[in-house]
Amino acid sequence: MTEIRKSDDVSPPQIIPRPEHNISRAHISKPALKVLYRLKDAGYQAFLVGGSVRDLLLGHQPKDFDVATDARPEEVRALFGNSRLIGRRFRLAHVRFGREIIEVATFRGTGNGDPSDGEHVIHESGRILKDNAWGSIEEDAIRRDFTVNALYYNIADFSIWDFAGGVDDIAHGWLRLIGDPETRYREDPVRMLRAARLAAKLGLELHPEAAEPVPRLADLLDGVPPARLFDEFLKLFQSGHALESYRKLAQLGLFEHLFPMTARVLADDSQQDFRELIEAALANTDWRIAEELPVTPMFLFAVLLWRPVKDRAATLMQDEGLSPGRALAQAAADINAQQVARVALPKRFSLPMREVLQLQGRFEDQRPRRVRSLLQHKRFRAAYDLLLLRAQVGEVPGELAEFWTAAQQGDSESEPAPAQRARRRRRRRPRRRQGNSTPAP
Ligand code: ATP
Ligand code: MG
Repeated sequence: MTEIRKSDDVSPPQIIPRPEHNISRAHISKPALKVLYRLKDAGYQAFLVGGSVRDLLLGHQPKDFDVATDARPEEVRALFGNSRLIGRRFRLAHVRFGREIIEVATFRGTGNGDPSDGEHVIHESGRILKDNAWGSIEEDAIRRDFTVNALYYNIADFSIWDFAGGVDDIAHGWLRLIGDPETRYREDPVRMLRAARLAAKLGLELHPEAAEPVPRLADLLDGVPPARLFDEFLKLFQSGHALESYRKLAQLGLFEHLFPMTARVLADDSQQDFRELIEAALANTDWRIAEELPVTPMFLFAVLLWRPVKDRAATLMQDEGLSPGRALAQAAADINAQQVARVALPKRFSLPMREVLQLQGRFEDQRPRRVRSLLQHKRFRAAYDLLLLRAQVGEVPGELAEFWTAAQQGDSESEPAPAQRARRRRRRRPRRRQGNSTPAP
């Protein structure tokens, strides 16, 4: 990784005094203010930084408040009884106030700007020390990715320090990288995903200079560790802007590097219903987050992989003569294995996801005993939700979804008492037959 921004390239910030901006202390959390004031009173510099300043300027409520200071982690630790130091490579202090944690970071010099990336360190020895090398606030600012992320709110006089023209970019609605875009993407290809995500989340337009190299450099994502891509997946698809993020990713040629098998199906023009299925699921996820309902990555993975799994099952039936049920199970296992090599969905999600995919083959069997047993399945609800989406886009008849909607109502009306149900289940189990024909997926 090249270090393009040395301290002598760093210029002083543009300082925007309090009367000329709209950030008010009323919008900053009490715990964040407490941390800022205590650092200042102890004689340190203390700034609110990063996403929170950006979000406040845009009129959004930040999801967390990060603080940057010239105090060293040990000094921060000494100031706050309710704090602890975390991170080996990037030492930070976490100050806890009930459920809210304020992250306090010491200004850092140039080096790898990404706090969550451990990879470069392994490749080049000596990187660890570099990443923890303390720096000036100017250096801290320009190692960040986007101009709008290099804004600092100074608790000493409530001014904003703008190191890269972020305030102007916000005013014009631009998302722009600090420095040369290609160099910054090569340093850390995940910044391309962050570009898509932040543009979607903030409603900013990716500046043409920042957008131009992306399709060309998208391949670099293939070298990013799958675990890190899963972290990004969560931020992209479970932060309330999944549909917009997905569209941005697709537009920039990035989606195919996260879900290559899904993208291959989508590239086929006749797959309009699969595109609709995905978009409906993403819109629903956004709605659930807005309603503060729980969401799980296993369901979105199931949706995204459904068609690759269905197609693979058809091949297995044809080429290897597997029964429909076995084919679907095998296909779910195969596709999952390939997908997790790209985006590392943890087992606690991939196992239930495979069940949800497999269960799609059991909805057509409407014999009463099979219906009862499917209704009792641990993954019935998620599988049914996928079935509803499939019906919504016309992949299966609406009547099939209606049947299962009604079956659940019937089931809850005639719901036996728990003790009774347990007995019934025990009796039924030995009679369950193996190898029943499962309808084609
Ligand atoms: P969000 O509001 O979704 O949390 P964010 O911009 O705050 O968005 P974080 O992942 O919380 O994103 O990162 C905090 C800050 O760290 C960013 O504002 C940015 O300045 C810096 N940062 C994060 N990831 C990178 C990266 N890959 N390269 C350079 N700087 C980064
Ligand atoms: Mg953040």
